[in-house]
Order: sequence, then C-alpha cells, then structure tokens
Amino acid sequence: MTIAPRVWFFDLDGTLYTPVRGLWPAVGARIEAFLQQALQLEPAQARALRQRYIQQYGTTLHGLRAEHPDIDPRAYLDFVGQVPVEDFLRPDPRLQQLLTELPGPKWIFTNADAPYARRVLRALGVADAFDGIIDIVALGLVGKPWPEAYAQALRLAQAPRERAVLIDDLQANVEGARAAGWRAIWVNPQATTPRADEIPHIYALPQVLSQERAP
Ligand SMILES: [Mg+2]
Repeated sequence: MTIAPRVWFFDLDGTLYTPVRGLWPAVGARIEAFLQQALQLEPAQARALRQRYIQQYGTTLHGLRAEHPDIDPRAYLDFVGQVPVEDFLRPDPRLQQLLTELPGPKWIFTNADAPYARRVLRALGVADAFDGIIDIVALGLVGKPWPEAYAQALRLAQAPRERAVLIDDLQANVEGARAAGWRAIWVNPQATTPRADEIPHIYALPQVLSQERAP
C-alpha cells in the first residue's frame, strides 16, 4: 500500500475548533473598537464600515489597507489579536491525538497573525503539533483566498503543490486552494456525510483519509 506523502495546511479559526460561543463576537467587538479609535467613528458607524469592508474587500484588514494606507496594519492586528482566547478555548486532547497520528509536515495557514495563532494553539493544547505558522504577515498581508497566498505558503513550507492539502472552514478559501491546484478539504458543519473533499468537523479527518487508503 502506497500512501502519497502530504503536507498539511490547517486553517485556524473555525477549523481547529468549532465556533465557540462568545469568541467571535469578542473578536468582532475588538475590530469595531479599533475602527472607532483609528477613524474617530461612533459605534454604529464602525459596525457599518466593518460590514462594508467585508463585503467589498473580503476582510476588514484589506478594506483598511485599501482606504486608509496611513494606518499601520500591524497595529490593527496587534489590537484585534489581544482578544482573551484563553477565556473561550480549552485543551482538546482529541484534536491533539488526531494531529499526532497524522503523518507528514503540518502547518498553520491563517489570515490571523502569529501571536494570536500561538495563543489559540496553546489554549487548545496543540502548540507542539505544528511545524510552523504561516500567518498574514508572512503572507505579505495578502491572505487566502488570493492566489498569491497559496503560492507564498508553498514557498514558506517548501512544499510541492501536488502534495499540499488545505483544511479550512471557509468555502472561498477552499475554492481558492483548488484553483491553485491544491487538494482542499472543506470543514462544513452543514455536511451530513464525511467525504474526501468535505467533512462536518475536524475529527472526521482520519475517517476520510482511512477510507482513501483502503485497498
Ligand atoms: Mg477559518
């Protein structure tokens, strides 16, 4: 039995853990607080601006960079990343075991920044399971699903495209990966039956892979 060696690229939020009550609203509140302070906005204006940025540019960060190049993106990432993830996330031994048993290099590939990603990984108890973190700064602030992000991730991980697998909860990111020639597995909570390209949660990953390996 031959198993094609793979290089795993895991998204962080919504992929390694399912949406946790309270965490994402807390992140959203910090994004809006940053917009309020940086642009002298009322709370309702900041909320509307965030919604427009997401619609128009995909992320608040891209909107800020396009319309306010004077604002330091690192200041934005630092501020938003200080959300107290430790209050929301607990160690996940099942996830830790899954990652330990998965052969091949494993990278975090996230549109968040590395300090935040490290805190999330520590809170989940899986900080040692990864070979490295490819974050939005390492991506030159151009994240998924832009084609450059996938090319840069391959360069940083020194991985050939045909061995790359993305696991991500955002359909746009999954489609971006496939367009770039990667294999991609969509973590879609609406999925009913785990398939090779779509699983309802991260814990279904070994099942899907073992089916592939069956003779
Ligand atoms: Mg995600």
